[in-house]
Amino acid sequence: MAVQYRVLLLSLPLLQIVCLDLGFPANEYEYSVKRDSLREKEKQFAGESLAMSEDEQIADRYLQLLKRQEFKATRKTGFPPSRPLEETLDTIVHSDVYRVLKMLPKGGLLHSHENHQLSRSILVDIVWNCSDFQHLYILPENHPTDPWTLDFFISPPPGEGWEKVKGHPNYTKEVILQRQTLLGVLTERARRYPSDAAERWRQMDPLWRRSASQLIANVVVKRLYLAAMWREVLTDGVQYIETRKNLGPGTHQLYSLDTHRKYEPTYGKHYLDPSGELDINMTQLLLREFQKRRPDFIGFRRITYGHHQESVSQMKAKMHLSSCTTRRRAAETNWPDDLMTSFEPEVDISTTQDNSLDAVLLGVSRVGHGLGFIKRPYLLKLLKQRRVAIETCPTSNHLLGYIPDLRNHPAVHYIRSGIPVVLASDDPGSFGYDHVTVDWYQAFMAWGLRLADLKLLALNSLRHSGMSASKYVLPSI
Ligand SMILES: [Zn+2]
Repeated sequence: MAVQYRVLLLSLPLLQIVCLDLGFPANEYEYSVKRDSLREKEKQFAGESLAMSEDEQIADRYLQLLKRQEFKATRKTGFPPSRPLEETLDTIVHSDVYRVLKMLPKGGLLHSHENHQLSRSILVDIVWNCSDFQHLYILPENHPTDPWTLDFFISPPPGEGWEKVKGHPNYTKEVILQRQTLLGVLTERARRYPSDAAERWRQMDPLWRRSASQLIANVVVKRLYLAAMWREVLTDGVQYIETRKNLGPGTHQLYSLDTHRKYEPTYGKHYLDPSGELDINMTQLLLREFQKRRPDFIGFRRITYGHHQESVSQMKAKMHLSSCTTRRRAAETNWPDDLMTSFEPEVDISTTQDNSLDAVLLGVSRVGHGLGFIKRPYLLKLLKQRRVAIETCPTSNHLLGYIPDLRNHPAVHYIRSGIPVVLASDDPGSFGYDHVTVDWYQAFMAWGLRLADLKLLALNSLRHSGMSASKYVLPSI
């Protein structure tokens, strides 16, 4: 009787579930049995369904101990996943939980934008030490549209205000680096309102150009960039990476610098690769060389992507154009339901939430972010039935103000519902947090996950990658 009384004092929703699905327990024993059966039912969805070796069980207990210590240590200063990353990154990367998670094998990194993956600090080092550094130029702080943008020229376009970096007293590595990441440029207003996504996007938008395509497309930088990117993800326990990259013409095209007069119209840029083939061949060669040194790196794939601001017809056109690489489609549904974000709103009247319909209709194999699906349970059910993976990028969502408190990220609902989720980093270099282990820390600390859940996330990332199953071995579930 006393137990039944205690049950009544429990939350009403729990009482309703017990009454509706399992009948009201008659005594304490029956209550325990029914409680256990609920728990067993829940286990079939997330990582608890995985077999864990004895060593893994020991590691799990150790991680749980570290997690509890971390809860205690951050009680006074604030729980990192519930606070803005700009205030907690230092605490996170110096924690014991982070140290252990960094060593954890993470499988594949499936949602990463190639030119924004590598730490800007490493990119700046590459640029400073490369043979073309003497030809590096920058747009000054007072430039009306693109301040702090870096590019290489033999002779820069006149009238635009480009200044040579080498030898300029104002342009030290440290000063320039601070202007290349979101964490480096956040304004007071952005810090004060961490859920103001529009304000954060205003800070982020110029950064896509500052030290990205035009800089990395220099063939000297590109070679070093790719090797550094692969090396860095390996230090995070990532064995495979798929990066998104715009394959169309423009600033992405490989070039070398050339003093010959015929390249004067392009300011000394000798474009080497109008078809994009050279980029692909060079990357394959570099990858083979890298894997000889690091056989633990399973592979790399480059994929093109449809932007959340594009309509179905625009995406289809791009898919057709990009036949040279994998064609894995995704919908980035991380915008409010009724926001019209098409590039051509007069001819293409569709909200970004409509992309979730397109994702289902186009038969996608993975969905980028998938934040919008929490508002569309029927579509979510279809994703589950079709085993469509959701690429979850918690730190990106956090930094851009979509999910200012990561304890409430919808991915934990997806994981516990049996939807295959993979953890990814999106743009850690340009955001300024650099390492995908930060995403794993946030998920592990905020979502009540255990080692078995992390193992499942890693296995999902291999199962749902573009890689052939023969390249990896998975235990059966
Ligand atoms: Zn993305």
